[in-house]
Amino acid sequence: MSTRTPARVTATSWPVLTGAARDVLMELLVHGPMSRSEIAPRLRLSRPTLSRVTKTLVTAGLVGEGGTELRSPTGRPSELLHVRGESHHFLGVKLTADRLYAAVTDLAAGVVASVEAPLRSTAPADVVEQVAEVAAGFEGLTGLGVTLGGVVREGVVTDAEFLGWVDVPLAPPLTAVTGLPVAVDNDVQALTAAEHWFGAGAGVDSMVVITVGAGVGTGLVVDGRLVRGAHGLPPRFAHVLVDPSGPACGYGHRGCASSFLMTEAILRQFDGPLTYGEAVERARSGERRAREVFEAAGYALGVLIGHAANFLDPHKVLLTGDGLPLYEVAREVVYEGIEDTYEDDPALIDLDVQPFDFGEWARSAAALAIRKTITGAV
Ligand SMILES: [Zn+2]
Repeated sequence: MSTRTPARVTATSWPVLTGAARDVLMELLVHGPMSRSEIAPRLRLSRPTLSRVTKTLVTAGLVGEGGTELRSPTGRPSELLHVRGESHHFLGVKLTADRLYAAVTDLAAGVVASVEAPLRSTAPADVVEQVAEVAAGFEGLTGLGVTLGGVVREGVVTDAEFLGWVDVPLAPPLTAVTGLPVAVDNDVQALTAAEHWFGAGAGVDSMVVITVGAGVGTGLVVDGRLVRGAHGLPPRFAHVLVDPSGPACGYGHRGCASSFLMTEAILRQFDGPLTYGEAVERARSGERRAREVFEAAGYALGVLIGHAANFLDPHKVLLTGDGLPLYEVAREVVYEGIEDTYEDDPALIDLDVQPFDFGEWARSAAALAIRKTITGAV
């Protein structure tokens, strides 16, 4: 371990807000600028309460007034309230097995800066130190969100296989060294929440998110809310059986969806070492073995999507991740998997394939910090 001591972050503090003020702020963030007469009925607030709340938010610099719209029933112009995005900044950090991806966003989750770096080490203390160094590079942050693949309960990473972490309390040491409120969560859950907030799934009532890459992640939105289990566990269904004669996943299952889809599991089926990009190239150029591997992965992906659609009948199935090239290479077989599994007309499945960018993971980590800050959960 190195002996560097990162400079303490110059933090911007968050005002104390009432429940009604939090609700109004969140409503404006999620649905955009609105007049008082639109907000009051949506949140079932009386006009005097809303006036009081608005005044607090404006005084705190979080909300601005301006821009008028002729939308009121009386035809009188009504003034729109909007979130002052520039009032606060948040840092989001997504950890992988060997890199960190960081993004600074404003209060409205707009990205204003981003950085990425290889992890110097995966020892928790070293990661804390490195994240704190990134934070110290930005002035006036209000909060920090960190996400990673694994199980996270109340700021404690109970199991993160890629980093080799078991029961690592991450939020307290990060707060101690940065002075910032810190939110930690599973990366796919944070991404699902962000996609539902301002991304491809904005506002939909139900959605399944599937990410493919180093691991296979799943996230659910039901009745307009991110699904969290009774024990704080995220929904996980990436290990459904596809073919009992298939390869083994990290848990030793034979032929589960993950065993066909994880990057490492795909590469293991080739002779000799190669990168994922090289494997994709071989499949694209029609090499027989490579096509077999990717078509088996594509079929497994289709089965997974079909099961997810059977479980939930969602408005949308959102597919993303750094393993997306497998979808491009084996698209037709993906649909065979869907057809063999889904119990209704596959045309009902709105499959939305989102181009992948690690920056989006970092942005969703910042969005996590924003949500937790507003709701007072950090
Ligand atoms: Zn498995």
